[in-house]
Amino acid sequence: MTAMAGKLVWLALILCWGIIRGRYAHRAERNRLIKERDHVREIVLLILSFIGYLGIPALYVATPWLSFADYRFQPGIFWAGTLTGVGALWLFWRSHADLGRNFSIKLVIREKHTLVTTGVYRLIRHPMYASFLLWSLGQVLLLPNWITALSAVFGFCILYFCRIGREEKLMLDQFGNDYREYMMHTKRLLPYVY
Ligand code: SAH
Repeated sequence: MTAMAGKLVWLALILCWGIIRGRYAHRAERNRLIKERDHVREIVLLILSFIGYLGIPALYVATPWLSFADYRFQPGIFWAGTLTGVGALWLFWRSHADLGRNFSIKLVIREKHTLVTTGVYRLIRHPMYASFLLWSLGQVLLLPNWITALSAVFGFCILYFCRIGREEKLMLDQFGNDYREYMMHTKRLLPYVY
């Protein structure tokens, strides 16, 4: 078994990731946008996190350009990465399914926006971002390269430091006390911990 195995699993997972996202983003489009925050800033942040999660790893998988930063492939780490990647994909799918037509890639409120507090949203407020955290770990474990590892950390930092706070503010503005109460019963990313 070689580093090629990690590349192939990463490719298969990212393909599933794209299919899930495409399907639910298309469904949510039917629920019209009525409020949008920081359009340009959001686009820039999205591009940056896409570079971390897609651009750099794709470059590593498809070309030898980043091979100077490779480290040794280890089958045990590869299997841990596969499990983590599958777990991330499961959580990504469940959070889309539970968020339903309230989903958006940007910070928006939709016409029939409802506050979701059930399913994977019962214990944490940001299961989709938690799935990105797991995905970052999966990327680090599956692709034995320092640059793709750093780009995975970078992708998540963009979401965490530049998005979560503003998103919670938007939810508070929209749902007021309902969201405040929801915040009292839930953690951000890790059930019962953080
Ligand atoms: N932060 C969430 C959702 C990411 S999708 C997660 O990680 O699972 C981003 C959109 O979801 C935002 O535009 C926001 O309007 C919406 N959103 C976030 N939390 C929500 C909730 N609990 N109920 C309904 N919509 C929510």
